[in-house]
Amino acid sequence: MPTKPLIDHLKCTNCGACISICPMKVYDKEDDKVIVKKPSECIGCRACEVQCPEKAIGIIDLKEEKKVEDELKAELKEEEKKEKVLEKEIREVKDKDEKKELKEELKKEKEVIKEIEKEIKEEKNKDKKEE
Ligand code: SF4
Ligand code: SF4
Repeated sequence: MPTKPLIDHLKCTNCGACISICPMKVYDKEDDKVIVKKPSECIGCRACEVQCPEKAIGIIDLKEEKKVEDELKAELKEEEKKEKVLEKEIREVKDKDEKKELKEELKKEKEVIKEIEKEIKEEKNKDKKEE
């Protein structure tokens, strides 16, 4: 199972315990700050997570992370399809009130899309955040 650690730098005191305990030398220090230097070397043993006195380490399951992102992308695709249908309907419908209603719907749809795009971005950022 591919994994990698994330450090919550708000909690981390840079004590170095994770550097000492990690059998794969995943961690290192740069300018007195402990960093995840080689995330791809992580074997998911969780020794660092257990050892960290500040509970500042989380071990991420990369497969799960990818799954969440893929699900969000599929959801986005569906919503974009709905958006296109609505746009087509707005172009075709003659009745003013109906057009207005559809435009309202489209507005909401665009908000949903924006929200999903934001979530996807956050998922991606999670990846880079604490390395
Ligand atoms: S063991 Fe925890 S507190 Fe210490 S350097 Fe590592 S992440 Fe930071
Ligand atoms: S889970 Fe194990 S291999 Fe991965 S960073 Fe922590 S101590 Fe190192």
